[in-house]
Amino acid sequence: MLRHFDEGDLISVLTTQPLGRALDYKAPEGGCFEGAFVEVPLGPRKVLGVVWGEGEGGYDLAKIRPVIRVLDAAPMREDMKVFLTRAAEYTLTPMPAMLRLATRSPGLGDPPAMRLVYRRGTVDAPDRWTPARQKVVAVLEEFGGLAFTLGELAEMAGVSTSVVKGLVKQGVVAEENSPRDLPYPPLDPSLASVNLTGEQAEAAGLLRGGVVSRRYGTALLKGVTGSGKTEVYLEAVAACLEAGRQALVLLPEIALTAEFLTRVEDRFGARPAEWHSGVTATERRRVWKMVSEGGAQLVVGARSALFLPFSDLGLIVVDEEHDTSYKQEDGVLYNARDMAVLRASICHARVVLASATPSLESWVNAEAGKYQRLTLTARFGEAVMPEMRAIDMRAEQLPANRWISDTLAGAVRQRIGDGEQALLFLNRRGYAPVTICRACGHQIGCDHCDARMVEHRFQKRLMCHQCGETKPMPSKCPSCEAEERLAPVGPGVERLAEEVAALFPEARVAILSSDLFGSARALKAQIEAIAGGEADIIIGTQIVAKGHNFPLLTLVGVIDADLGLQGSDLRAAERTFQLMRQVAGRAGRVEKPGLALMQTYQPEHPVIRAILSGEDEAFWKAEADERRQAGVPPFGRMAGIVLSSPDVQEVFDFGKALAARTDPLRRIGAQVFGPAAAPIARIRGRHRVRLLIKADKGAPLQGALSDWLAQLKPPTNLRIAVDIDPQSFY
Ligand code: ADP
Ligand code: ZN
Repeated sequence: MLRHFDEGDLISVLTTQPLGRALDYKAPEGGCFEGAFVEVPLGPRKVLGVVWGEGEGGYDLAKIRPVIRVLDAAPMREDMKVFLTRAAEYTLTPMPAMLRLATRSPGLGDPPAMRLVYRRGTVDAPDRWTPARQKVVAVLEEFGGLAFTLGELAEMAGVSTSVVKGLVKQGVVAEENSPRDLPYPPLDPSLASVNLTGEQAEAAGLLRGGVVSRRYGTALLKGVTGSGKTEVYLEAVAACLEAGRQALVLLPEIALTAEFLTRVEDRFGARPAEWHSGVTATERRRVWKMVSEGGAQLVVGARSALFLPFSDLGLIVVDEEHDTSYKQEDGVLYNARDMAVLRASICHARVVLASATPSLESWVNAEAGKYQRLTLTARFGEAVMPEMRAIDMRAEQLPANRWISDTLAGAVRQRIGDGEQALLFLNRRGYAPVTICRACGHQIGCDHCDARMVEHRFQKRLMCHQCGETKPMPSKCPSCEAEERLAPVGPGVERLAEEVAALFPEARVAILSSDLFGSARALKAQIEAIAGGEADIIIGTQIVAKGHNFPLLTLVGVIDADLGLQGSDLRAAERTFQLMRQVAGRAGRVEKPGLALMQTYQPEHPVIRAILSGEDEAFWKAEADERRQAGVPPFGRMAGIVLSSPDVQEVFDFGKALAARTDPLRRIGAQVFGPAAAPIARIRGRHRVRLLIKADKGAPLQGALSDWLAQLKPPTNLRIAVDIDPQSFY
């Protein structure tokens, strides 16, 4: 039971403002519950906050101001408060920033109200079809039963509101008065599922048992692509719904949600709530409210869905759990996989981590018995894992500025000749990663970052992949002013497309690269077109590795399997292994056998050999041994500290000052490395300096870090980012 405060009681309110502590207020007229979302005065402003508990007092009571009003939202539950507090402690994030993650609901302060919404009307066609009218109807039909506000509908269709109004007059679009925030249609877990195979049924049974126990537990569901992991964890979702609890499924990529929503609809008879950046503000507000009131049984979403106010969360699935996009790399630095485990342990829920290529962290936890391990060994039905072979590029003698070997080209020709699809994988966006002046050797860089600009020929611009800044391709060298001497070096997917066009002039080519699509919908349409057979050759960056289903695809060619191996990053081998495996897993999903060919200059490299051998367990064991010996995660703890400032001197000075006061860290036996210029020494005009802290697995790292950092007050323009368990070291 939440405790209730009477009018005038002294209460403590945590606001979303960066203040460093909760503030005291008086409970408003009518009182309020602990956890209530409130509006409070702060100086001249009104800000959002949550009633955190009893006030601290110690001030002149007469000066303490009352809460302005209690918002129309269910109070924050105790388990959510505990989750936010523990997540803040773990990631060393100030509580107000944590609270901001948990209050990302547009219009949280709005009063409950009716509003006009628009959906498909009863009249089939207007007197006259215009392209604009067609777009409106297309949007409404795509989203089935959903209703939109006037502004949203017009924006999504890319038309003016008068077009919508015109359709309303004719009855093609219906205008209705509707309460905001309706519950989601109920999902029916008793509908028939597929007939699970023996090992699928066994895994599903164990997951169901876990959900029914209502106790915390994490399972690692490991199985090759196409082995039915999704079918299996949908059974855990079914068990959760039967138990009357809520479920959350996290996906690493928005573009994957469309296919998943359809599968949920097939299995449970209705669509679940959806939460990610591509969802309209109205719909996000509805999700947030319905989740807290129990009007949403299942949410499918991105990592930030972990901070939704579930009233009774019983299951969290993290699909493709190894995916790096689960780590938020700006603002609050958290890993959604770890936070899912934390949240579940607080609210007695189960976690399912699903992957064909688990992260080493999860694999080690499963080995150690901390996670339950469930393995699916076979692909479903006829589909078998693709055969994998290396192409030794030393023997291929490729001429300059060509990247597709004769061996690979021959295989592509054969497959597309048989009416099948081939995928060429290159994890580099744009046309060429480097543009060099042949007269003076100058490489075009970003003005604000210590990074080279990447040519994007479709957009006719150079782009910085660090800060997103673009500029037109210059005609002369910015350094020596020589005309017509700038030349691209190395391939990106756009350049590869040129080579493909020259080699296979008849083939239909599709490029899948995140920067080529203005919206998630456009990307989804392209993926559906490819799946439907509208391309012979697909050229793709890592977005193709993320679980899309291309039934006609039988050949995967990896253009540069060595690309990820050189990095100094401690996870370079692991990432290459995962990426290559995932990409190869795209081939031969249905009844045709697949083939994966990897172009490499180092076929003897242990990682390449592990990929080819198909002996995953051997790879993880070897990788785990190396990390154990080096005392690095998951066998030791790490924190990355990035200092940044427009002033290069200041940032180095501060780094040195910190490095000279490491007593709090030494007390727990931690080692400090740095300060050193970060690999990317400047981003968006800010100079960057890194320190790296290493400690033993059991060491109380967070406490020591806060004591250490608390010793010095940073200069005004200097920012400190603390990254616990860093995934990237740029
Ligand atoms: P994964 O998530 O491991 O990649 P999926 O669950 O997506 O695998 O399964 C791959 C394909 O095989 C899907 O189309 C799925 O519906 C189908 N499938 C898997 N198991 C079964 C089964 N037991 N009966 C029927 N179809 C199945
Ligand atoms: Zn830049």
